[in-house]
Order: sequence, then structure tokens, then C-alpha cells
Amino acid sequence: MASQFAEPGPIAEHKVGRCFLCGGTASELMAAGYDYEIQTCSNKWQFLRCIDIDCGLARLDPRPETSALGVIYPHDYYAYRMGKISTIALKAKEWLDRQKFAGILRHGCKPRRYLDIGCGDGRYLRMVETLCGLAKADLYGVELDSRAVSGLEAQGYRAICSRVEDCGQHLEAGSFDLITIFNVIEHVVDPVALIKDMHAWLAPGGLVAIETPDTSALDARLFAEGLWGGYHFPRHWTLFTRESLRRAAEDAGLELVAFAGQTGHSFWMYSLHHWLKYGSRGDGLSARGAAPWLAACFDPLDKWGLPMLVFFTTLDMVRHACGLRTSSQLLIARKKCD
Ligand SMILES: [Zn+2]
Repeated sequence: MASQFAEPGPIAEHKVGRCFLCGGTASELMAAGYDYEIQTCSNKWQFLRCIDIDCGLARLDPRPETSALGVIYPHDYYAYRMGKISTIALKAKEWLDRQKFAGILRHGCKPRRYLDIGCGDGRYLRMVETLCGLAKADLYGVELDSRAVSGLEAQGYRAICSRVEDCGQHLEAGSFDLITIFNVIEHVVDPVALIKDMHAWLAPGGLVAIETPDTSALDARLFAEGLWGGYHFPRHWTLFTRESLRRAAEDAGLELVAFAGQTGHSFWMYSLHHWLKYGSRGDGLSARGAAPWLAACFDPLDKWGLPMLVFFTTLDMVRHACGLRTSSQLLIARKKCD
């Protein structure tokens, strides 16, 4: 990454100043930190939590200017996040994804047209194609990476190259029986508006499944001040609790069907990685932690991270089975039929 060759500098930022869920302007400091993960910039970032008693939505404020998106999402961001994962981890992820889809489809959904927002290389399009027998012409994906979109188009899928915020012009209202958005909604400008858009794109009775970090999980609380991997400074712009995510869905007219905890090994691992490398004070991007040399063992994308990846995935599966919240939540909601 660029940081290995030069010290990162500051990028342009702007204030938000209001809560997207309740419109309130009063907030409290929730966490502060740096781009510990990719080190694309030197800015100190902060999450503010809305203090409205019925809200509690957390937002990155200030946040990067649109002109800086190319800096915080370097051209190899997608490949960086997926291409370095080991074969064993990919197999395990495929198994977990099948469990996730089985859990969604269990709620009476027989999709005839499917949309995946932030579809990457199309892994979920292929999964629904296999599980539900849909034709490629009924499998839609929205993705910013033009190379991934070209590859999907060549295979016959309906891939749309667009920022999530601008994809509405390509989608027909009331036409999808199933929409999924996994680990994307926390990156968009206004997630509450996006949930309303997804409600409009759904057919009556259709399901939406939203996966996003859960700030009420144990690891989020242990590393709350700024080192938690789920903060992903400065690429995560909104963070939900189950309560605030439920409210956003219901305000959009959706009916809650279920919540399911998902494994969140990467948040556990990055939290410990950042703590070992940067220290508990999290004061800047200089390595001042207790054992920077050990940090690679907690990097989910490093070959040395595989044992910990297996350990924390298993830990979260056990915790979920015991009814405890994990740091990745999956909300399933339905568009009402009337
Ligand atoms: Zn609020």
C-alpha cells in the first residue's frame, strides 16, 4: 500500500452536523482514531453518537470529501480485501454464506428477481442462481469496480457500474423479491435514504437483508474508544445498534422479520491488531503498541492470521448459539403487501 512508501498526509473533510435517522443535531463523542488499517491519510477521525433517547445512531463527522474517495479507497482496495484471503478461509466463508442465505430464504422467500448491492465479483449472484434456479437476466448487481462489472456482464448478469447512491436510475421500482446489502450500508452517504430506496425497489412481500456492524457487541464495547475494527476509519460513515437499524427499517415502511448475528472475526482481529501495533491510546499512526511484531498474527488478510481467523469465527459461532450479540448483525425485513 502507499503507506509503505510514504507517510500519508491529510485529506479534505467536511462536517455533517445532523443525524440521518432522527434529524437531531445534538451528539456526543463516541470514538476517535485514525486509518489504522490501510493508512491512506493522517486525519484524526471521530464517530459522534446522536443523544436522542430513541435514536443513538453513530456517524463519522467530519467525514472525507467526495474528492478524497480515490485516496481512502485505493485502486486495489477490492483486491486488497478479497484477493489475499487464503483458500481455506474462502471455503469457510462460502460455507458461512450458504448458511446465511438458507437463513434468509427460510422466511418464505422464493425470489424471481434478485438484487445485490455492492456485489463485488458476483459471489452472491452465483449463489442465488444455484439455490433458486434464477436466470442470469434476473440477477442484478450494483458495483463500483468497473473490472468486476465487466466480468459479470460478460457472463450475462445484469451488473450496474455505479456508486450505490446513484444506482436508482437503473432499477425498476417494485420489481425485486429479494435485495441484499452486505457490509455496504455503513459506507454510504445517507443509509436511511438508501433503506427507503430499497423499500421502493422491492415488490410487495419482498425481503431485504442488511448486514452491518453492531456497536453493541462485546468487542465493540471492549475497544470502544477508537481501536475497534468495526470503526474502519474513515470508510465506515454510519454505525447502527440493532435498535437504530430496526427503527430505520420501520421508518422506511418495512416490517421486521428477524435479526441474526453473523460471525465478525475481522472486527475482533483488527481490534487486537490495532491495539498491539498502535497501543491503547491510539495516538497517531506511529507504532507505539506493546507488541507490533505480533500484530500480523491478528491481520485477517495475512497468512499468519489464519489460526486467529478460525478461533474468532468459532468463538462468534458459539457466542451466537448462546444468544449473545456478535459484532456483525443481519436484519431481515419485508415490504408489506397492502
Ligand atoms: Zn438521531
